[in-house]
Amino acid sequence: MGLGSLFKRNKDKKPQSVEDDCHIDINTEDCDGCEKCSIACPNNVLMIVEEVSSVRDAQVCKNCKVCMAICPNDCITVN
Ligand code: SF4
Ligand code: SF4
Repeated sequence: MGLGSLFKRNKDKKPQSVEDDCHIDINTEDCDGCEKCSIACPNNVLMIVEEVSSVRDAQVCKNCKVCMAICPNDCITVN
């Protein structure tokens, strides 16, 4: 087994949609509940539930992508 495999990132993980009708996807497998996204969001869209980020109210999202930028684990996709 090569050392390279120890550092290989899992590219197969797909973001999981937390809510079907919103445009915010959170990969809850990679989320560690650090709260950076929920604190940074200027519109209070996100909240931490059972130690992972979730969408509190997608209707008030302004698509600023601050949450995407601040997440250390690249868990969030907004489109
Ligand atoms: S895109 Fe902006 S408004 Fe929407 S959830 Fe992320 S930080 Fe909040
Ligand atoms: S910033 Fe990323 S890792 Fe931290 S709670 Fe939000 S989605 Fe999870």
